[in-house]
Amino acid sequence: MIRKPTLSIGLIGSGFMGKAHVFGFATAQKVFDIPAKVNLHTLADIDQQTAKSAADEFGFKNSTDNWRDLVNNPEIDIIDITAPNALHKEMALEAISASKHVYCEKPLAPLFSDALEMTNAAEKMGVKTQVGFNYLCNPMITLAKEMIASGELGEIRSYRGIHAEDYMSNASDPFTFRHDQAGGGALADLGSHALATAEFLLGEIKEVMGDCINLISERPEIGGGNKAVQVDDIGRAFVRFSNGASGYVEGNWVATGRKMQHDFEVHGSKGALFFTQERLNELHFYSTKDAGGRRGFRKIEAAPDHYPYGNFCVAPGHQIGFNDLKAIEIAGYLNAIMGNGPEPFSFRQGMRIQHLIEKIQKSSTTRRWLSV
Ligand code: NAD
Repeated sequence: MIRKPTLSIGLIGSGFMGKAHVFGFATAQKVFDIPAKVNLHTLADIDQQTAKSAADEFGFKNSTDNWRDLVNNPEIDIIDITAPNALHKEMALEAISASKHVYCEKPLAPLFSDALEMTNAAEKMGVKTQVGFNYLCNPMITLAKEMIASGELGEIRSYRGIHAEDYMSNASDPFTFRHDQAGGGALADLGSHALATAEFLLGEIKEVMGDCINLISERPEIGGGNKAVQVDDIGRAFVRFSNGASGYVEGNWVATGRKMQHDFEVHGSKGALFFTQERLNELHFYSTKDAGGRRGFRKIEAAPDHYPYGNFCVAPGHQIGFNDLKAIEIAGYLNAIMGNGPEPFSFRQGMRIQHLIEKIQKSSTTRRWLSV
């Protein structure tokens, strides 16, 4: 038996995403043939008690209240950052300078200039990077991309993309890192996903006209009192793609009633596609080739034909879930580290999303279209 090399993980943060990453590491090894074993080495969080209890729950051997312990530990290969956005840059840069591979949650950094610095540092050091744009790992979104690229929809004319949830719609919910001027706001938090999907499907956006709106101007602080909120609750943009299509992208965290509306609709001269993450195992396809009187959106259900669905389940229509997308993302990243293919979404690609966000924000202030 050939012994696989081990990749040791240092995870920073044990909240929503920290747990999703741990699920992803566990599932990826069982579902994919990855040429390395994963070792959950050390978990860092804000204090020792939080770190220790999460390390015990998630199966990490060690815990610490100082993330620099991970960066400085020669036994750790990958620094996995699931901490608040404003901390990503400092953590990633220190990890890169210690020659670690870095897996960082989106948005990559508060500013485009930060993301550029992180990307340049990683590329100079030759480490592998990954940003958490897991929705792109859905086999139905890959199918949509293939259908668009193959010309099945004809000439692409228009696009509508949205990522809307309602978890910030209650004005008495407290101020969190997501409201921080550094890297916060609905456009960075959710619109980043919608922008990534738009470019994944249709290629580069070349012009934007943004409209970023703050609706809830202050929120209670956990320690008492109120804190001003300046970031957007809704970030929208009209967009023009390099391929000639035009469209619209929105990030919205006050969309009352919506829990996971990561949706898109693409219209071409010969057909159309509709997708919603609320039913992530379905892609809806309309074809003008269908006979008159029989036209309508047909539902394509995820099945083993749609790689890598079959790695999870041999039967069609049984469905994969949100955490499985993380496992697909992680499998791609581990393979890239082992020299098997490119990273699914590198820092350079994450930087591109940051660039779009910043252009939309600037355009919203100047009330003018901006080239990207
Ligand atoms: P969270 O608040 O649930 O978790 C953040 C964790 O970081 C907590 O455990 C917190 O204690 C820890 N932390 C804070 N400061 C720290 C420090 N100095 N050192 C070590 N640990 C520290 O937040 P979350 O929802 O998990 O979001 C974390 C990141 O994941 C954000 O960048 C967010 O944008 C991203 N995110 C991505 C997705 C996705 O689908 N890809 C979904 C949700 C969140």
